[in-house]
Amino acid sequence: MLVSPPEMAFAEVWVDVAGPVGSKAFDYQVPPDLATRAVPGTRVLVPFGRRRVLGFLRCRKASPAVSETRPILNVLDDAPLLSLPHMELAEGLARYYHCGVAEFLRLMLPPPLRVAVRKKTASPNVFTAAPDVARQLAAGRLRRAPQQEKALRFVLQHGAVARQELASLAGVSLGVVDALRQKGLLVPVDPSWSGESDQHVPELTDHQRTALTSIRAALDAGRMEMFLLHGVTGSGKTEVYLRSCQAALAKGRQAIVLVPELSLTPQMIEVFQARFGYRLAVLHSRLAAGERWREWTRIRAGQARVVLGARSAIFAPCHRPGLIILDEEHEFSYKQENSPRYHARYVAEQIAHKFGCVLLLGSATPAVESYQAACQGEYRLLELPERIEARPLPQVLVVDMRAELQSGNRTIFSRALTDGLANCLLQKEQAILFLNRRGFSTFILCRECGTVIRCPHCSVSLTYHQSDRLLHCHYCGRRRRPPDTCPTCGTSRIRSFGAGTQRVEEEVRRHWPQARVLRMDVDTTGRKGAHEAIWRRFRSGEADVLVGTQMVAKGLDVAGVTLVGVVAADTALHLPDFRAAERTFQVLTQVAGRAGRGAQQGRVVIQTYNPDHFAIQMASRHDYRAFFARELRERQTWGFPPFGRLGKIICRGKKCDDVARLAEVVAEAAEKAGVDVLGPAPAPLERIKDVYRWQVLVRSHPGHPGFDAAVAAAMVAGREVGGGELSVDIDPMDMM
Ligand code: ADP
Ligand code: ZN
Repeated sequence: MLVSPPEMAFAEVWVDVAGPVGSKAFDYQVPPDLATRAVPGTRVLVPFGRRRVLGFLRCRKASPAVSETRPILNVLDDAPLLSLPHMELAEGLARYYHCGVAEFLRLMLPPPLRVAVRKKTASPNVFTAAPDVARQLAAGRLRRAPQQEKALRFVLQHGAVARQELASLAGVSLGVVDALRQKGLLVPVDPSWSGESDQHVPELTDHQRTALTSIRAALDAGRMEMFLLHGVTGSGKTEVYLRSCQAALAKGRQAIVLVPELSLTPQMIEVFQARFGYRLAVLHSRLAAGERWREWTRIRAGQARVVLGARSAIFAPCHRPGLIILDEEHEFSYKQENSPRYHARYVAEQIAHKFGCVLLLGSATPAVESYQAACQGEYRLLELPERIEARPLPQVLVVDMRAELQSGNRTIFSRALTDGLANCLLQKEQAILFLNRRGFSTFILCRECGTVIRCPHCSVSLTYHQSDRLLHCHYCGRRRRPPDTCPTCGTSRIRSFGAGTQRVEEEVRRHWPQARVLRMDVDTTGRKGAHEAIWRRFRSGEADVLVGTQMVAKGLDVAGVTLVGVVAADTALHLPDFRAAERTFQVLTQVAGRAGRGAQQGRVVIQTYNPDHFAIQMASRHDYRAFFARELRERQTWGFPPFGRLGKIICRGKKCDDVARLAEVVAEAAEKAGVDVLGPAPAPLERIKDVYRWQVLVRSHPGHPGFDAAVAAAMVAGREVGGGELSVDIDPMDMM
């Protein structure tokens, strides 16, 4: 523990206050009565202006940097909650993302607890679930004993729990716990237990072994190294993750495993649970405060060795992290969309440097930035080019919806998809119908030739705004009247485009009244556990067709699925976002990867008005490298990442004119500071709940030294003029 000598009568404190003051530490006096408790990493109460605010003690010092200091009012913790390396990490991140240090420190803390937590005495009465329990629960064996089922699910989630705690935390009686022990469903934790249950552990394939050898070499040497694992869908990346974790644990270190959304990957939890048992901590957003606190302490105490969670689990309090894994590293959910707007991959890289960790990024469709980093030697590329058991990748058919229309088919299903579905139902196989829909899709598309109106200056699709009936470019702000006839083919079949999942579901029911259809989208998955319930029903064969949005594209490993239909590939293609092609390629590859994971060969039908678009073409051929090469050229031409660094400054306010003026000032200030400025322009979602949003994009070469200064100058200028709220998003992923 860090003890400060008494002559260090001052302390630097980060105050938990919004705005630019949050980015620097302030000096305070340490009163003699608090001198022993005021150690780095504790939370303190300090006066700030006329308020009392929460602060984090950074360090003690002998003399303050300013002449007048005020005293710390109280120290809130008996022992530091934050370690020095983690505080340094937060400081670095705050600088990079232009936000307050405390915003990051807060992410590293356990959740606030209303009840005081007693110091735990060691209990010999600790239990874990018997090896086979997950399978028995899935098979519904305990449906008649809901209390027992509840207790077991709790244990499965937590790895190991004491008898008393299990009863009180899971809300069951001690009798229930004892009954489970008698049935052999709960077994005592043997301290020497390896944590491996009798789950089948497969023999590695050659490709898996080669990848693992490289990772293990870095782990054994204890050196920082970053790997990009590019493996096609169904190539067995998870097994590489599991073995890498074991290798890290063998070195006495901890592993952090991030997945895009835990609720979408119940299979992942099961697999990790089976392999690591009580050594696993699972952090997800639906944990109650008490559960979260317990997991946090288990990680912090080093009892939990593997941490599985979504984005924010990157801040888990591991003392000796040795390995960090990001599964599906290209996923957008790794970027937090409200302050602090960090990307888990960037944070992971910083931790890897600081702690000398191995970073393992895995994906079938790596982000362009990541693959480029691998090409340049920053990451080491590992490849799994084949599916397990040499299963073929699915055959993909691209259907030209313009031709369908010309031949008189006005329905939302092409003949190929209709035939495919009919056949699939006849064979008693399963199908997924996928519709890519992110919020809205109001681009203008010609049904005759597939033309979409784009900005000639920014290479993004223009968005139709109902309010002024004009097409807007959301990067540069230019606007124009929508054409009455298509500029390419001259017909008048050019209009706005979009269809919902509900519509698709209705169509399926109309065509095939006997088909059992499930729908998975934001409307049907609002309730807790709803997503998992739909997933389980589909997996167990209770439905023939699953209709859904992005949610169905990820993580589903259902052997019965032989057909995947992409109802409209174009919705992703024409988002006003420079990553639109990349998103399209990724989502098509992911959703296609759901087909043919069992013994039967899979088929995919992609419906589109742009059959020749390179993202669709390359996805249909499973050709990541060709896609990457082409997309990289586009990025270079337009100066977008990885060839440019972006910062998005967002201006929000109730008064349209004020916000526009504010954006103007911000843009001007950034320009004066010597970086490229795109905008100001109204955001694609210009008005949300009566708040107007404008944005300014700041762009520079990746190594440009003036980038941060320009962002800071723009923010200062904006705050001076006022008229709305300002925020900045560094390396933005969401361009809406
Ligand atoms: P990915 O994440 O690359 O899409 P998964 O990790 O889901 O692929 O693996 C696909 C399937 O192959 C899973 O059911 C997994 O259990 C199985 N699998 C993985 N490695 C092996 C192996 N070496 N031998 C046999 N089956 C394996
Ligand atoms: Zn433009």
